[in-house]
This record gives sequence, structure tokens and C-alpha cells, in this order.
Amino acid sequence: PLPPRLFFEAVEQSPLAISITDARATILYANRAFELLTGYARAEVLGRNESILSNKATPTSVYRHLWRTLQQRQPWTGTLVNRTRAGTDYLAELTIAPVLDRDGVLRYFLGMHRDVTKVH
Ligand code: FAD
Repeated sequence: PLPPRLFFEAVEQSPLAISITDARATILYANRAFELLTGYARAEVLGRNESILSNKATPTSVYRHLWRTLQQRQPWTGTLVNRTRAGTDYLAELTIAPVLDRDGVLRYFLGMHRDVTKVH
């Protein structure tokens, strides 16, 4: 069996910005690429909502659809305009996957995103 340490190091060293949240999108973990892309140090984002990444211009309907999908325990993939700590907007290709506990209760979300601003 793979040791937990390997899971941690694999996620930690992933080039995708990865975060784990509770069921209300409060950040519990963020990897190194998340820090590099967003400009936020881990200590700054732990306990905060993922909405700190929002550029505050995305239509509410986008988030409503995202949350409706997640509440149905389905993964959501889409493109959002995010803002770094320094105030630079970037296009984020984001996938959010629900994480269920042993009883099938939705407990966490796994968020994975990358900057696709320059992809065309
Ligand atoms: P709000 O006014 O809080 O929400 C807008 C609408 O979204 C609401 O009207 C409601 O319909 C719905 N909504 C919001 N929160 C909830 C909830 N807890 N349950 C049900 N419905 C809800 N957002 C980004 O902008 N960029 C990201 O990179 C990003 N990454 C995320 C990663 C993960 C793993 C998760 C779980 C969420 C992520 N989000 C991200 C979504 C984020 O948590 C916020 O919901 C979003 O940014 C809107 O926040 P707001 O304060 O601007 O709007």
C-alpha cells in the first residue's frame, strides 16, 4: 500500500494549484503551487473562504450553478476570473470535486486550478 506521506508529497509538489476545503469552502489546506499562483501564503488563506480568490465581477449565476452541481455531489469544471493577492486578474480553469466520508456524507471539497490566461 502507498504510504500517506507519498500522497502528501505528490499533492504538495503538484504543478496544479490544489486546495482542500470543508463543505462551505473554508480552506483547510493549500499546496505550494496554490501559494505561487495566488500569491497568498498558506498561513493567510487557512480558515478563509475560497471566495478570496474571486475578482468580484463574476456573475452570481456562475457560482449558483457551481454550488448546485457540488450539492448534487457532482464535480464541477469551469473557468473563473480570479485575482491574485497582488491584484492581478487571471483566468482560472478550475475543477472542484466533492469528497465524501465513509457514510457518504459530503464533508470536503478538492479544488484544482491552473492559470489559462495565456492558453489560446
Ligand atoms: P456569494 O454571494 O457568497 O455567493 C454567490 C452565490 O453562490 C450565492 O448566491 C449562492 O447561490 C452560492 N453559494 C455561495 N456559497 C455557497 C455555499 N456555501 N453553499 C451553497 N451555495 C453557495 N470561487 C472563486 O471565485 N475562485 C476560485 O478559485 C474558487 N475556488 C473554489 C474552490 C473550492 C474547492 C470551492 C469549494 C469553492 C471555490 N470557489 C471559488 C467558490 C467560492 O467558495 C465562493 O462561493 C465564490 O467565490 C462566491 O463567493 P462570493 O462571496 O463572491 O459570493
